[in-house]
Amino acid sequence: MSAPTDDELLAYADERLSTESCAVIEQSLRGDPLLGKRLATLLSLRDQGNFSVGELWRQQRLSCPPRAVWAAYVDNRLGDGLSQYLQFHIEEIGCRVCMANLDDLKRRDTSTEAERRTRKIFQSSAGNLAGNTASSE
Ligand SMILES: [Zn+2]
Repeated sequence: MSAPTDDELLAYADERLSTESCAVIEQSLRGDPLLGKRLATLLSLRDQGNFSVGELWRQQRLSCPPRAVWAAYVDNRLGDGLSQYLQFHIEEIGCRVCMANLDDLKRRDTSTEAERRTRKIFQSSAGNLAGNTASSE
């Protein structure tokens, strides 16, 4: 018996399935603890409206989130739902592509990025205050 898809799991949770399919999924859930975890993740993701997780999930299913999302993950700029999704992607699915991506992002000094932004803001406002029209990038 093949594992249920995300859609099937969600349909099961929503009681949108026939009694028969429902029983099949119930059986899979009992036999596979990971499946229950996946369903819990799916549900919590769906409950969180932030970062259009639903869209991301629907469009990409269990495929790779964009690098920008991983960058936000590294910076702790994500809500719990999406963070869970990403954790799931790495830990349960073990996606090597994203692991490498994440690794790469983590190696970068994220504070440098923040500092750079702060400095830029400071510079431009300082420039404004001084009436300085000198070059900017
Ligand atoms: Zn991936």
